[in-house]
Amino acid sequence: FEKELLSYRTLPAETPDGHRLILRGNVELPIEVDQVREQGAEGIGLYRSEFLFFGRLTPPDEEEQYQAYRQLIESVAPHEVTIRTLDVGGDKFVPDINLADEANPALGLRGVRFSLADRSLFKTQLRAILRASVHGPVRVMFPMVSGVAEVRGCRAMLEEAKDELKSEGLLFDDRLAAGIMVETPAAAFIADQLAEEVDFFSVGTNDLVQYCLAVDRGNEHVAYLYEPLHPAILRALRMVCEAGRRAGISVAMCGEMASESLYLPILLGLGFTELSMNAPCIPRVKRIVRQVRRSEAEELLAAALEMKTATEVAAFLEQEMASRF
Ligand code: PEP
Ligand code: MG
Repeated sequence: FEKELLSYRTLPAETPDGHRLILRGNVELPIEVDQVREQGAEGIGLYRSEFLFFGRLTPPDEEEQYQAYRQLIESVAPHEVTIRTLDVGGDKFVPDINLADEANPALGLRGVRFSLADRSLFKTQLRAILRASVHGPVRVMFPMVSGVAEVRGCRAMLEEAKDELKSEGLLFDDRLAAGIMVETPAAAFIADQLAEEVDFFSVGTNDLVQYCLAVDRGNEHVAYLYEPLHPAILRALRMVCEAGRRAGISVAMCGEMASESLYLPILLGLGFTELSMNAPCIPRVKRIVRQVRRSEAEELLAAALEMKTATEVAAFLEQEMASRF
């Protein structure tokens, strides 16, 4: 069975009725970059830049970040890398960055909220990503967005960084795509407005589920309520995909939900075009992609959207998948 799965690494992630998906790898540690290539991923859909800041007393300077991104981009080219700007706070503790004590860290200074507060650290990272962008395909992505003003703030910083580099005579790709993680309920509700401000969406279901369902993603006592198939989540995903489609931007998913084979018909039916996951999951997901027709996925989705509990949806999907595939 393992051997059979390995054979999927080189096959395209295409449904029997000809819909092509892009499967990418998530990278949290440098060692995972090799796995991305080994498992047949088409690039990196989520590069969690936090680890560059781990285990040290001072944050990496521009040159060090530039070298790290450049090496990353060159090792993944011709495929694309999506670099997420620093996502500290909440469940992500970075020792060299002192965050104030907060009563509710998940609702506190995290993601772009932190970056927009510590502008010099943010600018350094954007300059490094821009400079690295001449070495291969890369996109930049902002985490934890909850409003249009934040996106505009991030884009203004990006423009500022470009102006600086220009005046210093340093090279960068002027068309570097900038997108956001959709991982707060607010972002899902205003997805149509956000879609006009960005080049792409990537749905972070780990946080989206946590915030939509008000269930701490790391709390075992409420883990039974952490349900990606909850009707509220399916509706949120539908809103985001529709907004992306109307605006003509790509909509990816990079949360753990993307790697669960059982959910694939739902994601395919919703119209996701890119899924990013831990690299070892890719052959298994690709195998399902190559079996499920988009038209069937749309039927399954329509039925699932009528259901009232995640348990009901899961049972339905299990039964349908077992009988069809
Ligand atoms: C997410 O929230 O789904 C996500 C991919 O980001 P992280 O797990 O790093 O918060
Ligand atoms: Mg997240």
